[in-house]
Amino acid sequence: MKVYNFSAGPSIMFKEVLQQAQNEMLDYNNSGMSVVEMSHRTKTFDAIIKEAESLLRELMRIPDNYTVIFAQGGACTQFDAIPLNLLNKYKKADYLDTGNFAHKAMEACARYGVANCVASSRADNYTYIPKVKREDFSIDADYTYYTSNNTIFGTRFNYVPDAPTNLVCDMSSEILSREVDVSKYGVIYAGAQKNISAAGVTIIIVRNDLIGHALNICPIMLDYSTFAKNGSMYNTPPTYAIYLAMLTLRHLKKIGGIPHINAINEAKAKKLYDFIDASDFYTNKVNKEDRSIMNVPFVCPNGDLDAKFIQESLACGLVSLKGHRLVGGMRASIYNAMPMEGVDTLIDFMKKFELENK
Ligand SMILES: *Cc1c(COP(=O)(O)O)cnc(C)c1O
Repeated sequence: MKVYNFSAGPSIMFKEVLQQAQNEMLDYNNSGMSVVEMSHRTKTFDAIIKEAESLLRELMRIPDNYTVIFAQGGACTQFDAIPLNLLNKYKKADYLDTGNFAHKAMEACARYGVANCVASSRADNYTYIPKVKREDFSIDADYTYYTSNNTIFGTRFNYVPDAPTNLVCDMSSEILSREVDVSKYGVIYAGAQKNISAAGVTIIIVRNDLIGHALNICPIMLDYSTFAKNGSMYNTPPTYAIYLAMLTLRHLKKIGGIPHINAINEAKAKKLYDFIDASDFYTNKVNKEDRSIMNVPFVCPNGDLDAKFIQESLACGLVSLKGHRLVGGMRASIYNAMPMEGVDTLIDFMKKFELENK
């Protein structure tokens, strides 16, 4: 049975990438060994991490005054790393509380200084993105933090916050899905297991002037300068995840880069939302203009039908559609690697399920 994986993360990878990895599994580039078993100090691995970085720079048009870091620890480790690196002058940062991960990041910051909540949609179970204007932000903050795509709740910012201080963004669940003007940011970071690679590597893009000012209590392994000085190889980097990232980036470049994949993403999301909106059986509770094009939550008329939907869709090869426990219902994560046929198959199933259960 053909399976479509709608998991929020770790999630679907491009088939071409997995096939390439399979072809090279036992013998990478005539090295006689697998990337998995290769020292990170070899010329061969050095070429892999350099190619991953240069492709990322090219695809995201990262300016030269930014450093690209490949770290371990997942996106959540950055919840602490961000304040530990940046909270060095005012000991205060502005946070936009638009989801569970944003909220956790804000809680982490409060351990080291003042985490100022500028706006929150928590009271409405994060179903919308607050509109924040420049005058809403603090001038005396070390940075302004937000989460551009809220994986659990299916919302995304359709604007870049006009903050007067260094903008920090968690792009874990949407990096490489739409174009971003990197020069507007102080730090962009993303765990790789949604749109880039296997779990295990976190990519951090930092403007150089923000490196080297970490708090004294900052662990060496969270200090961006440790990574910058050592080309992300102070210790062993997550080598295989970096290799898979390189393959994904190569593939993205080959198919036309971010503008191309963004057009496909928009078309996939539009099809699914249009279908949900036209139906009086399925509902998406998110404010329309704040809808994510990566994570699409929806519900049936009642919880029993949700449970039945998840069970029957699974039997049809539509995997991991169960919504996050904070939201319930279903969630279709339709990341870069989800083909249009996956969305079409989902919609066909939804039509059939509606007819049978109306
Ligand atoms: C998945 C996710 C995280 C958590 O990532 P981990 O790698 O599990 O730490 C954080 N932020 C966002 C927006 C996410 O989607």
